[in-house]
Amino acid sequence: MKYKSSPEEKNAIEGGTLYLVATPIGNLADLSERAIKVLSEVDFIAAEDTRNTGKLLSCMGISRPMVSYYEHNKRERGPVIVERLQAGESCALVSDAGTPAISDPGEDLVRLCAEAGVSVTSVPGCCAAITALTLSGLPTARFTFEGFLPVDNRPRKERLAALKKHTETMILYEAPHKLRTTLTDLAATLGEDRYIALCRELTKRNEEIFRTTIGGAIDRYKAEDPRGEYVLIIGGGDGAVEESLAATLRLLPTCEHVAYYEKTGMKRMDAIKATAKDRNVPKNVVYRIVCEEEKYIDPSDYEDFSAIP
Ligand code: SAM
Repeated sequence: MKYKSSPEEKNAIEGGTLYLVATPIGNLADLSERAIKVLSEVDFIAAEDTRNTGKLLSCMGISRPMVSYYEHNKRERGPVIVERLQAGESCALVSDAGTPAISDPGEDLVRLCAEAGVSVTSVPGCCAAITALTLSGLPTARFTFEGFLPVDNRPRKERLAALKKHTETMILYEAPHKLRTTLTDLAATLGEDRYIALCRELTKRNEEIFRTTIGGAIDRYKAEDPRGEYVLIIGGGDGAVEESLAATLRLLPTCEHVAYYEKTGMKRMDAIKATAKDRNVPKNVVYRIVCEEEKYIDPSDYEDFSAIP
């Protein structure tokens, strides 16, 4: 669908400019009209993986010269790209998926450009971290982006220890083959009861948001192999976790909300009280819903509520 652009918009392709072009994280239809225009018109494209980007360009019927720019050639390739920009060429930087410079070497190229006085602009779009955060059900007002946890033992331990101090929502990226180890490390640091949303295969056919606790995620992946790409959204500590947990539990059907508290070891009556508090409803309302669901209740479970009809 073509729209009439406004004179306020930054649309002309300018020489000597690096364009950070966000690409889809799984659904090709998420590539914006502006991204297609920029990719079609720049002098060259710097791609993290030229084969992947080649496929994307060919789906869109775009043909532009490409150079590779990735973790293991960024030191030599970065200055060459900056020289071409200084000579007046325009370049689009694309990562494998999502927004360049988020957990990929794009940040180094932006820094080199900034140091050399080369202009950089953005063609915004998908970012797995923000997509997952908004779907998690956790507070979004304050969050920390952690990217991938380090692999080496010492920096990994230090980073995990630092996570303990966060009271805001945390965002982590993880590959499927490392998910189990990361969940085990997170449980050891933050506890099994910490709320987590595992956001998988976002924008793809098998997209899934699994809202649970770290312990619940460990249990699931004992029986099942992790598949696809994951973003982990973890509730903040202290007061924030209670608030975020309650906010998320409110998204569950009432009986599952009660069942969650029972699994933590609470007596059923206490679980009903806690659920009522989270949902800001009288406890007899929760009680009735549980009764209706279960048809039969042992009255001794509910002696506090014996006056309730
Ligand atoms: N620059 C990208 C962005 O803006 O999101 C992130 C690049 S990082 C190298 C790749 C990681 O992003 C994956 O390991 C995974 O954690 C996450 N990711 C990318 N696409 C995803 C998707 N469709 N669903 C879930 N996570 C995804």
